[in-house]
Amino acid sequence: MSARAIAYRRGRLFIEDVPAERIAEAVGTPTYVYSALEILCRYRAFEEAFIAREHLLCYALKANPNRAICRLLAREGAGADIVSVGELKRALGAGVPPDRIVFSGVGKTDEELGAALRAGILAVNVESSEEAQRLESMARRLGRRAPFAVRLNPDVDGGTHAHVTTGRAGTKFGVPMAEAAAIYRRARGGSRLDAVGVQCHIGSQITKTGPYRAAMKTLLAIVDAAAGMGLRLQYADIGGGMGIVYDRAIPRGSAASEAMVAADKGRDLAPRRLAEVLLPALKFRPGLKLLLEPGRCLVGPAGVLLTRMLYRKEGGKKRFVVVDAAMNDLIRPALYGARHPIVPVRPRKGALRAADVVGPVCESADFLAKGRRLPPLEPGDALAVLQAGAYGFSMSSQYNSRPRAAEVLVEGSSFRVVRNRETFADIVRHEKA
Ligand SMILES: *Cc1c(COP(=O)(O)O)cnc(C)c1O
Repeated sequence: MSARAIAYRRGRLFIEDVPAERIAEAVGTPTYVYSALEILCRYRAFEEAFIAREHLLCYALKANPNRAICRLLAREGAGADIVSVGELKRALGAGVPPDRIVFSGVGKTDEELGAALRAGILAVNVESSEEAQRLESMARRLGRRAPFAVRLNPDVDGGTHAHVTTGRAGTKFGVPMAEAAAIYRRARGGSRLDAVGVQCHIGSQITKTGPYRAAMKTLLAIVDAAAGMGLRLQYADIGGGMGIVYDRAIPRGSAASEAMVAADKGRDLAPRRLAEVLLPALKFRPGLKLLLEPGRCLVGPAGVLLTRMLYRKEGGKKRFVVVDAAMNDLIRPALYGARHPIVPVRPRKGALRAADVVGPVCESADFLAKGRRLPPLEPGDALAVLQAGAYGFSMSSQYNSRPRAAEVLVEGSSFRVVRNRETFADIVRHEKA
């Protein structure tokens, strides 16, 4: 599935046909760099896997909402899964047709529901009875119909980190079966609510197919229950969450990187494997469209965070590599214990030694990696934090008054800045002294 767009050639790390070092020199560090080719290959692998059935891929913008990336995927025909009015504006601005946009989230405001209805999106994913009520009164106020899908909580365990599990009873997401049925019942005769689908999203970083199979079974039970009420749902939306393996993905082609490949801890949930469980489940359901909301797996492996080493430091029994990227740039290691591979852009020869890779922020949680085996490094060396294209920049902040990183998109042998590095003026723009 991977385009191998990020790989070593003659001892240098390349993003497509551009040496990573060249981008670090031209744009500075820290900088996020994305490969357009890798994103497109990942998107097309999904399209191919599900070609046998009418389907729609709604890219979950929150993974990486940069407008250049939204535009890239919109041009391929992708829809969008959005979670705020800001993301609605991004999706529309990128050219995603409104009837390919679905709106998720437990706390949509009146402003957001109104904007969604005015734009004419495919469906609002309703996450509570009260939200259904609010959506209906908003539709009445605007003199419109309100297409919706109930977000079901199928009580399925994605078998993943507690912070990214969303499909269990007891999480804030979705509604249980009985409440879902009650919401669909409201949508019968005389209501402004149009029941168009049913949705779920069971979590993130799911690498097994079992949870998807179980969730689809529950979605289909709802489709049947709705049919029993005289409502013909047009689609079943299985959500996103397809997992990628972080700590195994070291690009080949350098002696040092061969030695750094971590033990195989599993494999990505390839679209083909997912299709193998979802398509048979839908076999006897002609006319029921399949929606998927992948985020991370489309963009995560397509991005790296470039950073430079500032200092080396030995403290007690520990070795530290201090770099110029920090938890404000990439919070996933601190927040989820995520293990992003880190590789030198130009590996030096020599024995690997373990070190913690840390940033300049004043928090003990400010680390990019712990006990990571790395080749010899000198201050000034550029490093690439891999698999950083999803929930990297989008979760970044200005903590410690650090301007947010630049973002670069590579296409073949050319690259362009798709978001400027922030300045001090950006940081204080809205403040009043
Ligand atoms: C976050 C989210 C997604 C995307 O999840 P990934 O793990 O990035 O694939 C899809 N749907 C909903 C409702 C979400 O909240």
